[in-house]
Amino acid sequence: MSAGPDTTEASTAEAGRPAYRRVLLKVSGEALMGTREYGISTEVVGKIAADIGSVVAMGVEVCLVIGGGNIFRGVSGAAAGMERASADYMGMLATVMNALAVQNALEKRGVQTRVQSAIPMASVCEPYIRRRAIRHMEKGRVVIFAAGTGNPFFTTDTAAALRAVEMGCDALLKGTQVDGVYSADPRKDPGATRYERLTYLDVLARDLAVMDASAISLARENGLPIVVFSIHAPGAFAEVMAGRGRFTVVTDN
Ligand code: UDP
Repeated sequence: MSAGPDTTEASTAEAGRPAYRRVLLKVSGEALMGTREYGISTEVVGKIAADIGSVVAMGVEVCLVIGGGNIFRGVSGAAAGMERASADYMGMLATVMNALAVQNALEKRGVQTRVQSAIPMASVCEPYIRRRAIRHMEKGRVVIFAAGTGNPFFTTDTAAALRAVEMGCDALLKGTQVDGVYSADPRKDPGATRYERLTYLDVLARDLAVMDASAISLARENGLPIVVFSIHAPGAFAEVMAGRGRFTVVTDN
């Protein structure tokens, strides 16, 4: 696995090849809402799909994990008096809806896709089969992993780290609302500074809002670099793949 994107612009540009061969992009459900309070903005999903399409066109193998927080979160259901496990299954079903929305937007743009769900749903999509997913990517298809890990009490961040490791990805890309990891929320604190690089231990010790602790631990144990960038900046995904642009890399050192 590579240690992170090649941040020396010239060397990547000269070589004319992307900094990564295979990546997993995690997009939270909230990123699909746009300015809405709830649900899916087809306009935002379309923009994200266009960016994914341009990365596929660079020859990078791409798989996706989509969250479900724009529709349902298990903790909210539990807070409202539901049994946590049932509420979490509802959250996982929400991620399947988002996966289908992203699949649709990608295919409209000519990108071949397959959705694989951790909860088998035969008439909607494929079940999760690791070797089959790898084969799809080798054929240039974008594989969208739905239903998280398939287990309650987990998150789609952990599902993203798990699938990235299983797929042998060179990096886990986390598309967020801002262009990296900051010392504080830059939308609330104008003095917040952006980190270029962090270690897994920095993230855990300082409780930085990158991904949840189990996702960070899984990435750390398997030497999987995490690259945090803005999902809303047009073309940012392709820029990061080319080793340019603004992002924060989380690695071991
Ligand atoms: N979920 C789960 N197991 C998983 C992944 C997700 O139970 O492996 C449920 C959980 O209830 C979570 C919801 O699905 O709240 C939506 O996922 P998440 O909150 O991770 O989505 P995001 O914050 O990325 O939109």
